[in-house]
This record gives sequence, C-alpha cells and structure tokens, in this order.
Amino acid sequence: MRKIILGNTGLEVTRVGFGALPIQRVSMDEAKRILIRAYESGINFFDTARAYSDSEEKIGNALSDVRKNIIIATKTNAKDTKTFWQQLETSLENLKTDYIDIYQFHNPKAVPMQGDELYDAMLQAKQKGLIRHIGITNHSFENGKNAVLSGLYETLQYPFNHISSEEDLELVTLCKEKSVGFIAMKALSGGLITNAETSFCYLWQYPHVVPIWGIQRINELEQFIELEKNPPVLDETRKKLIEQDKKELSGSFCRGCGYCMPCPVDIPIPTAARMKFLLRRAPYQKFVTKEWQDKMELIGNCIECNQCSCQCPYHLDTPALLKEMLEDYREFVRNHA
Ligand code: SF4
Ligand code: SF4
Repeated sequence: MRKIILGNTGLEVTRVGFGALPIQRVSMDEAKRILIRAYESGINFFDTARAYSDSEEKIGNALSDVRKNIIIATKTNAKDTKTFWQQLETSLENLKTDYIDIYQFHNPKAVPMQGDELYDAMLQAKQKGLIRHIGITNHSFENGKNAVLSGLYETLQYPFNHISSEEDLELVTLCKEKSVGFIAMKALSGGLITNAETSFCYLWQYPHVVPIWGIQRINELEQFIELEKNPPVLDETRKKLIEQDKKELSGSFCRGCGYCMPCPVDIPIPTAARMKFLLRRAPYQKFVTKEWQDKMELIGNCIECNQCSCQCPYHLDTPALLKEMLEDYREFVRNHA
C-alpha cells in the first residue's frame, strides 16, 4: 500500500487509514477479524479514541503482536490533568502497548497552548516516552487554524471531504505549508455521503492528506483496499455527483459533530438535526421506529436556551433547524407508515 510521511512527524502511514470508531458496534471476535484483515492487507495506521468505548481494547486484542509495525493514534477528552493521566494509562493498557504514536486532544473547545496545564501534561507524556507526537482534532476552522499556526501540534484531524468549504481547503493547504500532518475525518460526512468511490478519488487528489475511513464491516474494508489498489479517476460523472452533493448538503447543514451536546431536554441533536438527509441518503427504516419517533418528538420540548447554537462551530441556528427537521420527519413518517 502507498504510504506518505505525515507532516514532520517522520511517521510513514498508509494513505488508507483505519478509523476505529465503528468497531465499537461489533463483537470482539468480529473486530479482530476486521483489524487483522486490515493489517494483512497493508494498512498500518489505526485511529481510535478513549471516548470510543472498547475500540482501543479491540485494537490491543487484535494487533498487539504486531505493535511495532503499526502506527496508533488515539485521543483524550480530558479537561484536567488528573483525568489526562488516568486516560493515558487506560489507553496504554487497552492498546497493550507502552507508547502511543500520536496522542490527540479530542475536539477541545479551545486549543490548549503552551503554559496551559493540559498542554504541559502532553509535553511531559512525550518526554517520558509515553507518546511520540502531539496532535489535535477539531471541527472548528478557527481552532484548527490556531492549532496549526501555534506550531505546537504535529497533526491536525479535521473533517474533510468533497463537500468541504473553501475555508476548509485553506486549512488543508496551511497544514501542507507548515508541515503539519492532516488527518481527514468524516470523509463520508457521517454517512451522508453515500458514494465512497467519489469521496475516495476526491481525497486522493491531496497526497499529504490521510483519510481515516470508519470501518465496521469486512465488505467496507474490502472496498477501500480495492480502491487503494485501483484509485478511481475523478471523471466528469464523479464531478457531477460532487456538485449534486454540494448543492444538497450546503448551508444550514448539521455535520453531526456533537459539540452542542448535552441538550437539557435530551434531544439527540447530532442525529435529529440531520434527519432529513439521513432519511433520504441512508436506509430510512431504522429511523422511523417507535423509539426514533419518540426521540424526534423531544424537539417539541426545546426550551430555546440556545446552548446548542452557541456551541456550534458551523454557526447553525440549531433550534430552528430542529423544528424544520421535525416537520419534515412527521410528514415523512406519515408517507412511509
Ligand atoms: S435550544 Fe433547544 S435543542 Fe438547543 S440545547 Fe436548548 S433545549 Fe436543546
Ligand atoms: S448542530 Fe452544530 S454542533 Fe450540533 S451536531 Fe450539528 S454541526 Fe455539530
């Protein structure tokens, strides 16, 4: 498999990275089968997080024998140093390793800088050899840019796909200029982009970008292995698909990042605010169950506290968007009952 050097880390990672969030949803044995197949096919870059329940444990269980041949990135969402050290210890234990290649701050609301206790803890962890490189993940353009310009981060993990904005592209270029490794998350926009081939060949145009493809099934993995072997061409048909996706998924479009959570009345905002698209772009049956109907009706309890919109990195008017989604949802359910 083709590899690139990730920014100035010196780490040589495959251009197909393995996003290990979805393996939380499969059994330990199935995760092992998928992870070993990924490794044997040549994938050497695995991205997980302390927040992804047993994902780290599954990686440790499947790949500890070949630890020295793989590159592991994981994340901490600690808000204080005590939790930082606890999480780091747990991650090392789960991953059955004594070092993490890239340790990332997981979507912090503000970028930890030199002198901040959390950033200092990262530096200490690096000095102790527990982590090799310091990274950050974020959904906010401002935070992403600050992190890259600070010179304190060796990698940035940021949403990037064919519906990304000009602003997002600016970050991709900035990372290249500053030799910061760019790890692309949400390459399929959390399931809203349904044509993986198109997304793949769009991202393939950026040789310094490493997408981590969220993989839950062996057939999804096989698809990416095949795409890597024979990268598709970004032809006119695919360009038209990109234009269509951009048209449909633009403006007040929720990316499902979850920054707005928790909601005081328990509205599952990251899914509810994208419901219109999920119903039409993914198999809709799982979203029209009694359980989901009840969850969507929680939107009626919104107290308009605006906590969600204040936290939204995309500056969405979330309460208004949710109301629009509920109206559309009720009609969809009526027509598909
Ligand atoms: S404005 Fe409504 S949806 Fe947003 S956090 Fe408050 S209650 Fe929840
Ligand atoms: S409303 Fe905004 S903050 Fe909440 S999930 Fe959607 S994009 Fe993220």
